Amino acid sequence: MYLEKEIKFLPGVGPKRAELLEKEADIRTFGDLLYYFPYKHIDRTKFYAIREIVHSDTNIQFRGRLASMKKEGAYRNERLSVWMTDHTGSVELVFFKGLKYLLSKLKIGGDYVVFGKPSEFNGAVNFVHPDIEPATRQEETIAAVLQASYSTTERMKNNFITSRVIAKLMVSLWQGMTGAIPETLPETLIHSLKLLSLHDSLFNIHFPQSAVLLQKAQQRLKFEELFWIQLRMLSLREERHVAMQGFDFKQVGACFNRFYSEFLPFELTEAQKRVIREIRKDTGSGKQMNRLLQGDVGSGKTLVALMVILIAIDNEYQACLMAPTEILANQHYNTIGKMIKGLGPTVALLTGSTRKKERKRIHEGLMSGDIHILIGTHALIEENVQFDRLGMVVIDEQHRFGVAQRARLWEKNTHAPHVLVMTATPIPRTLAMTVYGDLDVSKIDQLPPGRKPVKTLHFYEERSNEIFRFLQQQIAAGRQAYIVYPLISESEKMDYKNLEDGFEQIRNRFTEADGYTIIMVHGKMPAAEKDLAMRLFKEGKAQIMVATTVIEVGVDIPNATVMVIESADRFGLSQLHQLRGRVGRGAEQSFCLLATSYKLSADARKRIEIMTTTTDGFAIAEADLKLRGPGDIDGTQQSGIPFKLRIASLSTDEQLLLLARRTAADILAADPALTQPEHQQLKETLQQQLHREINWSKIS
Ligand code: ADP
Ligand code: MG
Repeated sequence: MYLEKEIKFLPGVGPKRAELLEKEADIRTFGDLLYYFPYKHIDRTKFYAIREIVHSDTNIQFRGRLASMKKEGAYRNERLSVWMTDHTGSVELVFFKGLKYLLSKLKIGGDYVVFGKPSEFNGAVNFVHPDIEPATRQEETIAAVLQASYSTTERMKNNFITSRVIAKLMVSLWQGMTGAIPETLPETLIHSLKLLSLHDSLFNIHFPQSAVLLQKAQQRLKFEELFWIQLRMLSLREERHVAMQGFDFKQVGACFNRFYSEFLPFELTEAQKRVIREIRKDTGSGKQMNRLLQGDVGSGKTLVALMVILIAIDNEYQACLMAPTEILANQHYNTIGKMIKGLGPTVALLTGSTRKKERKRIHEGLMSGDIHILIGTHALIEENVQFDRLGMVVIDEQHRFGVAQRARLWEKNTHAPHVLVMTATPIPRTLAMTVYGDLDVSKIDQLPPGRKPVKTLHFYEERSNEIFRFLQQQIAAGRQAYIVYPLISESEKMDYKNLEDGFEQIRNRFTEADGYTIIMVHGKMPAAEKDLAMRLFKEGKAQIMVATTVIEVGVDIPNATVMVIESADRFGLSQLHQLRGRVGRGAEQSFCLLATSYKLSADARKRIEIMTTTTDGFAIAEADLKLRGPGDIDGTQQSGIPFKLRIASLSTDEQLLLLARRTAADILAADPALTQPEHQQLKETLQQQLHREINWSKIS
């Protein structure tokens, strides 16, 4: 089929360009090129006079004569300066790369069309690496009212695969096409939702015939993209509900009941009770449970996890609890160990730093069934860990733990264990529906009683004395404090210097001679040292912990009431919220102090403002997604979406996402296995997409 042809066979491509297109833009076939959507459209009907040009953020074009050319510098510092003139003035174009090619192509006295973004240099306007084409060249083109701009990487540009070139390839692609591109959505859907056909949408996204058609094309393509994700997620869930036998936790037995009546240190909140009931119902249904438990920081998810684990044990199954960091795994191991001491079930801890001998003992204990609860880090799934009867898996604070990784857990068993994924709220609805769209959702929407909302204040670093005085007061009152330094990547030397300087500064201020013990915790520390430091803090023997974001998730030390975040402007909103969640866990009033320099970007100022005005995790998550905006690919990647969204955006297309989900749900409600003839096409496309689009390797 035409669209499946290899890209190197497209006129104008050839083997060298084909290699680049594949490496840099994942374009392997004609179809891939067709789905390489422009990131914006520009009006190229207008030509500027040179005198009119001012430096700006947008691309513009002008026609002119090449007046002079001069190559300067040598080897790596070469630059080519080209002066263009028209009857209104002259302007300089500057090139640093591909000079040989340009020198062979450009002729003094020739007429050219220049297209690019004007910038400013030494008070004058110039163009750096614009597109330049002979004005006389009769280009093969397809008429359109707006011209598509395609993103290209640095390497593509250096090899002259510019947006312009991609546009030309697109022309070539469409000119070679015979017949229409087949529709992928059912006819009824196209009608009821008034969608543009796939063929027309793909054409208009590249060659808009009008502004209205472009908009309809975008809507259709966005809808379709979101629709497939939702259909896939929901049919996955459907399949599991139908096909997957789950372990039937028939009873709530001695363990659970005894824990509830004799061991529980406090009354459960209503929300905790409700969630346990929901889980209880799932696990007793004979079907495999896949549930997402959302609860804001400090809402008491760990306890829910423990009680659910006890139900598994009552039914003679084993359970495991997986945490994202060793610190957190250790903490869970300690708290859970303490909470159920004397109850009966045995607990083991398995992390990256577990010794070989201990490891062996654990493996044996799991196989024989002597170990009932296994707590650990990724080591749990990465290693060859075998259970006797694994019935329940709890995954704590794992934003990135998507469908694929969960699937790997199931491989550990002939039967899939029940799975509970726990996370602090900041997952906006759109993201949750995309990453966890196949899960049922429970919410703990209530904090344990007596909690006071954390007071959040913004400080300028220059006023650190005030912060120190405040710390002194709090410590004098018996409280403890965290001081967090940003560490963008745990390998950056610079950042460690910040952390260590900070540590020194604090130690000079809060000296041992005055009876203070200050500890430092960061990700690169040996596990034993980290352990020791955490223990000192946990037991109240250290008053201040200087740390990186390793303490961001889950750490639970109720007596710590002050969180100072240094260079707070360098943190994202959800990270700030997570960090702040480390305090406010006891009955005392807690404080979060955000320290920044005077110089703040508008975005950073906005983030600080949101933090100082709300403690609502949901509101913060939504604001975060909006602030980061649709273009933030990193943001979505961090959230672990295994699909690349080509055109839809989770921050701006919420309505379309809801529509897509509703539509997919309706179809599956009427025809769960997609067996009806009118859904044949859907089923086939879905299966193709399953094979093609999800990049499993990226996430496992
Ligand atoms: P998170 O949901 O952030 O994981 P945790 O499970 O760490 O929260 O619980 C936060 C703190 O609240 C812990 O110290 C825990 O012992 C305490 N806690 C949990 N449930 C309750 C409750 N029902 N009443 C009082 N305190 C509770
Ligand atoms: Mg937790």
